[in-house]
Amino acid sequence: MTRPIILTGDRTTGPLHIGHYAGSLRNRLRFQDSHEQFLLLADTQALTDNAHAPGRVRDSVIEVALDYLAVGIDPEKSTICLQSHLPALAELSMLYLNFVTVARLERNPTIKDEIHARGFGRDIPAGFLCYPAAQAADITAFKATVVPVGEDQAPLIEQTNEIARRINAVAGRNILPQARAVIPRSGRLPGVDGKAKMSKSGGNAIALSASPDTISAAVKAMFTDPNHLRVENPGKVEGNVVFNYLDAFDEDRATLDELKARYRRGGLGDSAIKRRLEDILQALIGPIREKRAALARDPAHVIEMIRRGTEKARCRTDATRREIVEGLGLFML
Ligand code: ATP
Ligand code: MG
Repeated sequence: MTRPIILTGDRTTGPLHIGHYAGSLRNRLRFQDSHEQFLLLADTQALTDNAHAPGRVRDSVIEVALDYLAVGIDPEKSTICLQSHLPALAELSMLYLNFVTVARLERNPTIKDEIHARGFGRDIPAGFLCYPAAQAADITAFKATVVPVGEDQAPLIEQTNEIARRINAVAGRNILPQARAVIPRSGRLPGVDGKAKMSKSGGNAIALSASPDTISAAVKAMFTDPNHLRVENPGKVEGNVVFNYLDAFDEDRATLDELKARYRRGGLGDSAIKRRLEDILQALIGPIREKRAALARDPAHVIEMIRRGTEKARCRTDATRREIVEGLGLFML
């Protein structure tokens, strides 16, 4: 029986953080057995806003691969592959740019937010503005129907489906399937600074490789409710970063609901909820950090795994590229 295909991935801009864990890694672990899963180390996409720092993009390839393995991605079940070494993705990206308008790219809400967050002003790298077309190439080249991603990515999947429909319409048959985003219920994890999104580039993340001291310091510095000055005062749970994180990582939902009620009523201090969060994060990250350190001692093994995965992915993506070129009726030698 053929399993549904998943394509997902991460930009190689730095080590992954707990936002990735809550936002996408947890779902990817869940899908390993039931789906045929490809994980893309997106180094080409990382360059769209990091062309000035190619060394970081290169070094992060291994960092992200280590994070995958450390959280439990099994390379025998999921294929880990390198974007820049899959030429069909670059070729399809160029082709797809003809199936999308600049106005549509500029209207994409994710792109709008990211342009703002990166402070590009009018100096937007062309590759950055166009990355939704490249992401459409990634997803469709694998013929993925399921894409487990964070909530910020939903508009990109919508744009992918638009492009796929246009290609199918010109070809006169359904070459490319529609893809569905699978978004976790915990939503987008805010940064430790309270900003709307924890991100590698934002300097507001707790890495999956963070040391116990770093975790402890990050939790202590976290924002709560600025008006909750005394333990006995009623406090706000909504918009309280510590509760956002507890929502994402505390598995004891009943106790968490009680704590929220007590916090709202008054009588529960910030230090108590922070202690609870710190214990949960230390217990989550500790084993990941240890496994990662052990794997990092043998980088050649990790590189070999990426090479094998990339070869498998190359066959798949080359075949789709050929099918599209044929389907559109372009000249072929
Ligand atoms: P960068 O700052 O370089 O863009 P990033 O931290 O945003 O890095 P990406 O590689 O762009 O990470 O995102 C990879 C995946 O992780 C996407 O599916 C994204 O939705 C998800 N993700 C990233 N940050 C978060 C977050 N804070 N909460 C939930 N999901 C997240
Ligand atoms: Mg991002």
